[in-house]
Amino acid sequence: MRKKFVAGNWKMNKTISESVALAADVAKRLSDAMPSCDVALAPTFLAIEPLAEVLRNTPIKLAAQNCHFENDGAFTGEVSARMLKHAGCHYVILGHSERRQYFGETDELINKKVKKALAEGLEVILCVGETLEQRENDETKKVIVSQVSHCTADLSIDDMKRITIAYEPVWAIGTGQTATPDQAEEVHRLIRFFIASLHTDELANDITIQYGGSVKASNAKELFAMPNIDGGLIGGASLKADEFVQIVHSFS
Ligand code: PEP
Repeated sequence: MRKKFVAGNWKMNKTISESVALAADVAKRLSDAMPSCDVALAPTFLAIEPLAEVLRNTPIKLAAQNCHFENDGAFTGEVSARMLKHAGCHYVILGHSERRQYFGETDELINKKVKKALAEGLEVILCVGETLEQRENDETKKVIVSQVSHCTADLSIDDMKRITIAYEPVWAIGTGQTATPDQAEEVHRLIRFFIASLHTDELANDITIQYGGSVKASNAKELFAMPNIDGGLIGGASLKADEFVQIVHSFS
């Protein structure tokens, strides 16, 4: 069955102690009013282990923001999926546009990471999205279909069941410029049709597709009300406990 899912991507923000305080605040607020969706937080790597402790016995799962495609070895500065799993992560975010833009990650590299993360027992939040230039050139469909097919190449249906797709138009990330519910819904529907053509109708119907890009408490309800939008990947607004928890409670 398709799940509703909201995840907070804290990016390179918060020290360990600040992360612990924010996670505890989110957990406390959600214990007062239980969420009707799955919830995950993606802190900096350094805070993953301390947060595993803070979030024990809460409904909130831990996510990492990236991983390497090997388990170990001479890859200075990298963190492997296996390490993340052992540290208490349930999910890893892969293919975020900031990784693509600033660190040169390609669909082929992301595909290798996706396969390793799944093999190590993590679930994947796979980000896809077009730039403003691509949208203006009418290339959105081509770009999204290409990213989904290359990043999920060689995955079985069982693998795909452990993937959440996050549609994040690059022009909407951190800009305050949210896609309208209709703009987002159009791409979510396209992704679902495309998954059906690659795999099965059942998988396409069951896969969770989050929207990401300047989601706030003030616009989450109308986005989450769309039939093919199953929640959100939240950046800036996940750094404030009250705002994030309001977003989590935005399903009608
Ligand atoms: C993100 O980085 O995944 C994101 C959606 O950021 P923001 O909510 O700040 O636009």
